[in-house]
Amino acid sequence: MPASRIADNVKRVRQRISEAAQRSGRGAEDVTLVAVTKYVTAEETAAVVEAGCCDLGESRPQQLWTKAEALAHLPIRWHLVGHLQRNKIRRTLPLVSLLQSVDSRRLLDALSEEAALAVLRLPILLEVNISGDATKTGLNPDELEPLLAHALTLPQIELRGLMGMASLEGDDTAARQDFRNLRHLRDKLAAKFTGQCSLPELSMGMSGDFEIAIEEGATMVRVGSILFE
Ligand SMILES: *Cc1c(COP(=O)(O)O)cnc(C)c1O
Repeated sequence: MPASRIADNVKRVRQRISEAAQRSGRGAEDVTLVAVTKYVTAEETAAVVEAGCCDLGESRPQQLWTKAEALAHLPIRWHLVGHLQRNKIRRTLPLVSLLQSVDSRRLLDALSEEAALAVLRLPILLEVNISGDATKTGLNPDELEPLLAHALTLPQIELRGLMGMASLEGDDTAARQDFRNLRHLRDKLAAKFTGQCSLPELSMGMSGDFEIAIEEGATMVRVGSILFE
């Protein structure tokens, strides 16, 4: 796909983000576009960066490693949005700006240990299964609070907020409800843990529903397929 086409798509998505942000009483600068590049080559990924989008997401650690190496000359902030196996932590940590998919205590503890060895502080989001889909990854809402409390005891872990996905089956109304539930969960936890963490980031919304997510308070949207059509 030509770089000019990708640049047009990025521009169009940014425009739609800006309009949705205004509908929620915010500005375009309040919503980070994370371009999910898992579908495309390193060359096409570079075109996204050249179009001015430097926050990129991959769902597979190995693909992230390969692209991070191929595109090391570009000012990319990498987000991992998919499952991270513990044996891939060591190679992944130094490359990511935000690990969006922390969904278990075992993973969190392993991340904390590795971050201590690497002498770095790792920004993370906790991934919540908001839709209740059996196929979806993420923590059940009732597992969230204990894990959050635990994360706050780990000095190498910088807890930035929550990530979630709307149900694949539902319509726009269902998606809106899922997003609203996630925001309420965030607000409730931020109030409960006042002074310890503020959970500023809400990563929700993909190609099919990012505008709804923004209207419901998303600070970060993860958009893939529509950038490459
Ligand atoms: C693939 C993926 C996206 C992007 O999805 P699109 O529908 O292609 O925009 C967002 N979030 C996660 C976790 C993904 O795996």
